[in-house]
Amino acid sequence: MRRLDELVPGGLVLALSILAAACGGSETTAAPKSADDAKQFLTNVNNTMLKLGIEAAQAGWVAQNFITEDTEALDAHSNQQVIEAVARYAKEAAAYNSIQVPPDARRQLDLLKLSLVMVTPSDPGEATELTRIASGLRSAYGRGKWCADPSKPQSCMNIDDITKVMADSRNEPELRKVWEGWHTISPPMRKDYARFVDLSNKGAKELGFVDTGAMWRQKYDMPADDFTKELDRLWDQVRPLYVKLHAYVRMKLRAKYGDAVPQDGPLPAHLLGNIWAQDWSNVYPLVSPANADAGYSLTDILKRRKTAPLDMVKIGERFYTSLGFAPLPETFWKRSLFVRPQDRDVVCHASAWDIDSEDDVRIKMCIQPTEEDFNTIHHELGHNFYQRAYKAQPVIFRDSANDGFHEAIGDAIALSVTPEYLVRIGLLDKAPDASRDIGLLMTRALEKVAFLPFGLLIDQWRWKVFAGEVQPANYNKAWWDLRLKYQGVAPPSPRSEDFFDPGAKYHVPDNTPYTRYFLAHILQFQFHRALSQAAGCKGPVHRCSIYESKEAGQRLNAMLTMGLSRPWPEALEALTGSKQMDASAILDYFAPLDKWLDEQLKGQKTGW
Ligand SMILES: [Zn+2]
Repeated sequence: MRRLDELVPGGLVLALSILAAACGGSETTAAPKSADDAKQFLTNVNNTMLKLGIEAAQAGWVAQNFITEDTEALDAHSNQQVIEAVARYAKEAAAYNSIQVPPDARRQLDLLKLSLVMVTPSDPGEATELTRIASGLRSAYGRGKWCADPSKPQSCMNIDDITKVMADSRNEPELRKVWEGWHTISPPMRKDYARFVDLSNKGAKELGFVDTGAMWRQKYDMPADDFTKELDRLWDQVRPLYVKLHAYVRMKLRAKYGDAVPQDGPLPAHLLGNIWAQDWSNVYPLVSPANADAGYSLTDILKRRKTAPLDMVKIGERFYTSLGFAPLPETFWKRSLFVRPQDRDVVCHASAWDIDSEDDVRIKMCIQPTEEDFNTIHHELGHNFYQRAYKAQPVIFRDSANDGFHEAIGDAIALSVTPEYLVRIGLLDKAPDASRDIGLLMTRALEKVAFLPFGLLIDQWRWKVFAGEVQPANYNKAWWDLRLKYQGVAPPSPRSEDFFDPGAKYHVPDNTPYTRYFLAHILQFQFHRALSQAAGCKGPVHRCSIYESKEAGQRLNAMLTMGLSRPWPEALEALTGSKQMDASAILDYFAPLDKWLDEQLKGQKTGW
C-alpha cells in the first residue's frame, strides 16, 4: 500500500479503502452460508488481498521509480487485479449479512462491503457504462489544459502551470483570467457526471445503501445522519476563528487590490493564492504581521550545515525512536528513495510506502535541505510507523482507524517540529521569544484553518448530489451556495449552469471522498494536544514538542497498533482519553493568534 500526500492535484492515495469497483459481477445465490463459511471466506480474502497488495505495491514502486510505458502498464495491471478482487469480495461479503459470526469477523465483513467508493450495478451494460464514465472523467481532468490562445500551443497551461501563477502572481486581471481559464476544463464533464451519479447510486442501492453518499458516510462507525451532525458540530467550534482570519485577510487583500475585494463581503476566489482557495499560504507576504518572523530560517541552517538528505531522515527517525519506537529496518535505508536520480525520471512527490504490509516500509522523496522537506520527512515517517504498528492485524484491519487518521498522525508529529525541538537536537542555538510566535501561527493558520471549510464542503455538495437533493440543473448554483456559506468565498465573475465548477477540483472527477481531509485537520490538533499533555508539556500547546517523551510514545503506540480493528472512537480514546472528536484543540493551538486578530480587527466588520 502507498500513501501520497493528497492535497495536490494529481496526488492519489491507493489503499484498499478507496478502490473503485470495476467489474459488474452478479450475486450468486448458492447454498445457505454458515459461520464456518464466513471464517473460511475471510481467511481467503486476507490471504489474497495480502498477495495482490504486495504485487501492486511492488509494481507501483517500480513504476514511480522507473517511469516507462512498460512499468506503467504493469502498475495498471496489478492495480486492476486488486480492484477486481475487492469488488468481488465486497459483493460476496453481503451473503453473510444474516449469519451469526464473532464480532471481529462481523467487522471484517462490514468493512469489506464498505471498501468501495463506487459500486457498479449488476446489469452488465450499466456496469460497463459506469466504469467507462468514471475513467473518462478522471482522464478528462488529467488532460485538463487551458490555452490563452488556442492557436498557440505554448500558451496552454496545465494544472501545474495554473498553480504556479495562482501562487506567484499579484496581478488581479491576470489571476482572474487564469482562474476563469482553468474552470473551462470542466463543463464537458457535467453530463457524464450526472449519469455517473445515477449509475453509481444504482450500484450502491444493490448493496443495500440508500445512495453512494450514504455508503461513504457509513464508513464512520455511526449512523450516516449522526456523522453529518458531528461534522456540523466540529465546524461550529472552529468557525469563529475562521471568520476572524477571513476578515483579517480581506482587510489586507483590500489594501493590496482595492475595490476588487469588498469591504464586508465574501473573498474573491481568485486572490487567495490557490486555484480552489483551499490553502492561503501563498498570500502570507501580503498579510504577514509586522516584526513577527521567527528570526531564523531552518532552510538556511540546513544549507549552512550542509545537512545531507540521509541525515535529515536520520533526524526524523530519531524523533520516533526517542518516543520508544524501534528503529526502522535495514531495508528502509536500502530501498527508500531520498534524492532525485540523475539518470532517469521518477515521481518525486513525497510518499510513504508499505510494500509487504509488514516490515518493508519505505519513503520516496527527492529531499532538498529545506524546512518544508524537514517537516515532510517527519510527516511521511508517521505513515511508516503507523503501518508497522498495525502489521499484526488481519490484512483487512491494516489501515488507520478511519481515513482521517493516517494523515492526522503525520501532521500531528510535524506539529512537534517546534523551535524548542530544533534547539534540543542542536540545529538551533536559542528559540525565539513568544512575541515572534504570531508569524509562525499565521503561516500555519493560512494553511490549516483556511482549509477547514473547503475540506468540509466538497462532500456536502456531493452528498446532496448523490441524495438527489441537488439536481443537475442546479449543480453549479449549489456549489457556489456552499462555497459562500462555508468559505465566504465568491467567484470573480458570474457562474451560470453553463459551467461545472466542481469538476475543476481533482477529487470530484476522480471520485475520491474528501471528508477525510477535514477530519485529519481537526484530529491532528487533538492528537498533538493530548500527546503534549502526556509528555507533561506545560507551555502553550503550539510550543510543545513530544520529542523524547516515552509517555507520549506509549499513548501513540496504543492507538497505532489497533489499526482499523476497532471503531475509531475507541482508537481516539486510546490516544486522547476521549471518544469524541474535539476541535477545541485548534482553538487552544491558535489562541495567541486569535487574541492578536481581535486587536487587528477592532472596528472592522467580520463575516460576509
Ligand atoms: Zn501523508
